[in-house]
Amino acid sequence: MIYKVISKTEFNRFLDALVGNNTAFGPCRVESNIQGEAIYQFRPVTSAAEIALEYSVTASSAKHFFLPFREELSRFMFHGEEWEQLVACEADPIVLIGLRACDIAALNILDDVLLNGNFPSPYYLARRKNTFVIGIDHLPLVDCFCKSMNHHTVPTGFNLFCSDIGEEYYLSINSSKAFSFLKEFESREPGTRENRLLMERRNLIKKSFQTEIEVSGLPDILDIEFDSPVWEKWGAKCLNCGSCAMVCPTCYCYSVTESFACNQQGSSRQKTLYSCNLVDFAQVAGGHNFRPKNGDRLKYRYYHQHRGFAENANQQICVGCNRCGRTCLAGINPKDVINDLRMEKESCTTGDSSSPTSR
Ligand code: SF4
Ligand code: SF4
Repeated sequence: MIYKVISKTEFNRFLDALVGNNTAFGPCRVESNIQGEAIYQFRPVTSAAEIALEYSVTASSAKHFFLPFREELSRFMFHGEEWEQLVACEADPIVLIGLRACDIAALNILDDVLLNGNFPSPYYLARRKNTFVIGIDHLPLVDCFCKSMNHHTVPTGFNLFCSDIGEEYYLSINSSKAFSFLKEFESREPGTRENRLLMERRNLIKKSFQTEIEVSGLPDILDIEFDSPVWEKWGAKCLNCGSCAMVCPTCYCYSVTESFACNQQGSSRQKTLYSCNLVDFAQVAGGHNFRPKNGDRLKYRYYHQHRGFAENANQQICVGCNRCGRTCLAGINPKDVINDLRMEKESCTTGDSSSPTSR
């Protein structure tokens, strides 16, 4: 890692040059919510002025640049008795500006799943290696809990990461490409003062979290509470809309469909992102549904996020962005569900009758 300090004015010049010469996306204000608060999404940008660097959070995560909602995996062409398969997994280079530390941590988790397993995804790899990622730190929102998940800072997974130290950015440069792009612009080595400002900034971010979730031992609690009435309580509220998985930066479940051309001369195999909360997620041929109940589907989403992955990869898959909680029309969020599970376990251990499901 190489560290530099750059003035914000010079950094804007750098961004102008970068987005002027590349296909680039950054956070932009797209709407306001009912309270008049800005809603941000990643959108195409052609100048630094279009990028809302001071944004709070994007409603959807940056996952869709790497895992599009729908993509064609392959195409088959039939020629008489012969057939051929076409697989297109190239990706054009893009620049992605303004990712938060937890969003980059989410990409590192997706890397583990989609690149480091027995069957790496060439589709994901093509996009990941052709994406220049610029991260930027921020003060947490009132409901962010990424510190609880230890993802409020990120050491890898980006080309360049900017920490706001007042009039300047403290840059962490993590790729030769970023280093050579920056050479054209005025920057300097950080000194004692800038190092102190960086530490102060990091401490401020750490102290600003207002939402904490106790996640230690959570995989065990999930095991113990497998049949807990907590799942029924929250499942009864769930609308099965799947929005939580769509906005989540680490949910990657999908379905595959095959469409045949009417003239029988070819077919297309498509992958579509899916959610384990959707009613037919566990439905198989013949119509049997292994998870017909809302509570069971909700439970398995939490198991995947906080237990299954922890068992296989020694980390929970949730990064604590709380996008799922913000988007859920039924008011279901990780903090309340996990706290209920903990209380339920406590009440079973102590015999306390005020369990969360009796309220
Ligand atoms: S967003 Fe809320 S209501 Fe919709 S599937 Fe997820 S938990 Fe259920
Ligand atoms: S808080 Fe919700 S949306 Fe964010 S990573 Fe965790 S499960 Fe996904």
